[in-house]
Amino acid sequence: MSRLSGKVALVTGASRGIGAAIALRLAREGADVAITYASSPDKAEAVAGELRATGRRAVALRSDSAEPHAPAQAVARVVEEFGRLDILVSNAGIGYWKALEDFTVEEFDRVMAVNVRAAFTGAQAAAARMGQGGRIITIGSCNADRVPAPGSTLYAMSKSALIGLTKGMARDLGPRGITANLVQPGPIDTDMNPADGDRADGLRALMALGHYGEGEDVAGLVAYLASAESRFVTGTALTIDGGYNI
Ligand code: NDP
Repeated sequence: MSRLSGKVALVTGASRGIGAAIALRLAREGADVAITYASSPDKAEAVAGELRATGRRAVALRSDSAEPHAPAQAVARVVEEFGRLDILVSNAGIGYWKALEDFTVEEFDRVMAVNVRAAFTGAQAAAARMGQGGRIITIGSCNADRVPAPGSTLYAMSKSALIGLTKGMARDLGPRGITANLVQPGPIDTDMNPADGDRADGLRALMALGHYGEGEDVAGLVAYLASAESRFVTGTALTIDGGYNI
């Protein structure tokens, strides 16, 4: 597979979970890949090692998406290191699940900073350095469209904001040949949402396929969006959820 040879990608929040699977898939398809992490340097270095084992260049950057300027600084470091940036995957995300009245204002600010502001500022910085064929891909959630369980207010709000962000960016960047798309996964087996966790049986019951997805499932869709094959796809939200939202 070499759909992405000659391309440089940045995947945020890729020390584990969906981000790590995306980074590996993009490298296997030929891209040089930079990843970011917040608090897991060892895991991030291990992922970078796997990326290099594919024969591609790779770097792991500590970059806390909760910090206002971190995403733009990460983009600048990637361009410094690899000389260009073609693909941005804003994947870093967090959630708190609790009753509406129990959320603190600090939790509100942190969720919006990591899930929304970082996607915005990262895309701003990336678009400034991308040429024709550039790709901005953001990882949202199927909870942007449907919220079938209580406790999800903050998370769902942050992920639905990404729909408007994606549409606006697609309009602004389309004339430059840059696409912007949103990928909305359903339950994927990671530390955030383990397939053997407390909520898992309830989530499985809502899914047409009846089982969790893997990071690789999301990575396949992201690789398509990152490739030239998706050149006519922009401004859209693609749900990949095992039939959770139908
Ligand atoms: P995990 O919690 O398993 O992994 C999160 C990753 O993001 C880690 O690499 C973590 O780095 C990084 N990260 C967390 N906070 C920050 C931060 N402030 N700055 C930089 N990096 C950060 O999550 P998933 O892999 O499950 O989720 C990835 C994305 O997919 C998120 O946007 C999530 O909302 C979304 N998603 C997940 C679903 C699921 O069922 N798993 C379903 C729908 C959407 P570190 O190791 O350093 O903490």
